[in-house]
Amino acid sequence: MIHLLVLDARLMDTLEAKYGALWATIWPEEFSFKDQFKKLIITVLSQNTSNINTIRAYKGLAAMFEVTPQVLASADVDQLKEAIRSGGLYNVKAKRLKDVSKAILEKFKGDVASVLTLPKEEAKAKLMELPGIGDKTADVLLTSRYSYQKVLPIDTHFRRVAKRLGITAPNANYDEIQNAYMTFLPEPYRERASGLLWLLAKNTCKAQNPRCSDCPLQRTCEYGMKR
Ligand code: SF4
Repeated sequence: MIHLLVLDARLMDTLEAKYGALWATIWPEEFSFKDQFKKLIITVLSQNTSNINTIRAYKGLAAMFEVTPQVLASADVDQLKEAIRSGGLYNVKAKRLKDVSKAILEKFKGDVASVLTLPKEEAKAKLMELPGIGDKTADVLLTSRYSYQKVLPIDTHFRRVAKRLGITAPNANYDEIQNAYMTFLPEPYRERASGLLWLLAKNTCKAQNPRCSDCPLQRTCEYGMKR
């Protein structure tokens, strides 16, 4: 059964007090790129790994290569592997970096930002034509133009929390989870709330052994109320 609810504005103060200060420690400002190609590359590097590994891999890449589609498209895959090795999953990701860079040159003449000027659905469809780019990575790029108020990228943490809260069916797909969050997080404070919720997922609603008794959402959470 879907447990429909909306995050109460009063709970925002509690979430802010508990998780607000953690943001800066998790994602350094210097890796919040305005350059859309760099943003795409760091998002690819973040697939299926932690923030620490993502930043490690990006630093390794930037130390050996200029992070542009032209340079990465013509880079040697073994050298790319070496550059991002410290971030893990380097075999798959090195090839993905090269393939996506080549595709950006061929399809977008090397200019990712130009795609973001298209209407939202069209831009997303074009981004998802790129190799290795799914809903989440496309949505991360779309936030540059539309902000997190209009586009919420759904990662593994958001999926887990949505299902535990009961705002989606257990087998909900990407779009259904995203739509559920659009209701659960009211637009006026959606951007900040989504960041705080992500921190809650990482720190309290962990995949193994969620700490419900320490969670500000326990009284509105389907899973938490049963514990
Ligand atoms: S109450 Fe438990 S299951 Fe629900 S969001 Fe909090 S930690 Fe997760």
